[in-house]
Amino acid sequence: MNVIPRDQHCISRKNISDSALKVMSRLRSAGHQSYLVGGAVRDLLLGGHPKDFDIATDATPEEVHQLFRNSRIIGRRFRIVHVRFGREIIEVTTFRGHHENGEDSARANSGNHSRQSASGLLLRDNVYGTLEEDAVRRDLTVNALYYDSGTFEVYDHVHGLEDLENRQICIIGEPDVRFREDPVRMLRVVRFAAKLDFGIDDATAQAIPECAHLLREIPSARLFDEFLKLFLSGYAAATLEQLLRHDLLKYLFPETSALLLEDEHYLALMRAAMANTDQRIAEDKPVTPAFLLAALLWPVASRLAAQLEAQGTPPIPAMHDAAQQTIAEAVQFISIPRRFSQPMREIWEFQLRLKKRQGKKAADLVEQRRFRAAYDFLLLREQAGEETDGLGEFWTQFQHLAPSDRQQQTESDG
Ligand code: ATP
Ligand code: MG
Repeated sequence: MNVIPRDQHCISRKNISDSALKVMSRLRSAGHQSYLVGGAVRDLLLGGHPKDFDIATDATPEEVHQLFRNSRIIGRRFRIVHVRFGREIIEVTTFRGHHENGEDSARANSGNHSRQSASGLLLRDNVYGTLEEDAVRRDLTVNALYYDSGTFEVYDHVHGLEDLENRQICIIGEPDVRFREDPVRMLRVVRFAAKLDFGIDDATAQAIPECAHLLREIPSARLFDEFLKLFLSGYAAATLEQLLRHDLLKYLFPETSALLLEDEHYLALMRAAMANTDQRIAEDKPVTPAFLLAALLWPVASRLAAQLEAQGTPPIPAMHDAAQQTIAEAVQFISIPRRFSQPMREIWEFQLRLKKRQGKKAADLVEQRRFRAAYDFLLLREQAGEETDGLGEFWTQFQHLAPSDRQQQTESDG
């Protein structure tokens, strides 16, 4: 274990949330070890400002819960404690122990605390261990650094600091074993490579193609959670490129992924949607998964709608049925809560209504709740090179007219 004293790293308590410091000091006072760990330590060492603070301790979830009235134990597959301070939640995780090895003592004692499927997938991980054991069961070396807020020391058991300095994402241990245990780690590898603008270690990258198919075993709800982190953390554009490079997009959106190879407009649309989302996040504007999902599934929905139209279905029912079918197929892989799938459909269906430039209808459309998102989506399609006969420009001008002038303009047009 490499111990880095306070004068040899740049972490200052000033940049750590008071709540996290409070939790760690209370745990220490009760005789437990406790460290800041994971993304917070990584981001502090990189000079950033972490948005959340995770703590690792040798106290069991029950012991932690008893120390904090404002806490609750959550999770089954992976039990942790949430300690709440107003709107801030500090996540406290008990050191996990080993269980890669079937003969391992921890596993022999583990009873029903740990379970693994035939393919190596970790179904449950509640075997507790030491700091050293906890470090090696984490995903990436740069995510396995520990900071002791009492002694101000950083603990590094897996060459995390070296990888941080070399700007390299490296899985801890044997990449294929670790990906088999939890295939979502492959998505985490590309996510952090994109977010931190790091390279990916060769052995880590090389194991992805052989393990990628295991992502099919991941429940669709967990993939949706990961989707949010991949695309709504401010680095969607870089993440998309990483997903494409490592051929992982097809485990999230298989049909889109296939269509991207057929038509370069689709790829341009994806890139425009990602850049647009990143920019909104950078400007602190709200973003909704519905808009991004509308873009990610537009190739599938619009192609299907065109096919139905070619078979004689009128445009509006064609789009309606296409949307229905697109979503039904997508949710077999990634779950899409109804609060997002409904606005997605409305954005798509609105694309047809935006074609009508005349009459009172145009004036009404601008007033509708979904107009803004649908209009932004239209601009995105144009940006991606889709031919819309100047529709975007029309709506840009039209919405800036006073309501009385809108009526007039459409009357003279119509
Ligand atoms: P951020 O919060 O900035 O996205 P993070 O590194 O804190 O990044 P979390 O998802 O909050 O990521 O996880 C906290 C820590 O838990 C990680 O740093 C890592 O050490 C560990 N961890 C998370 N997911 C896994 C996993 N699937 N396998 C192994 N370790 C994991
Ligand atoms: Mg975190």
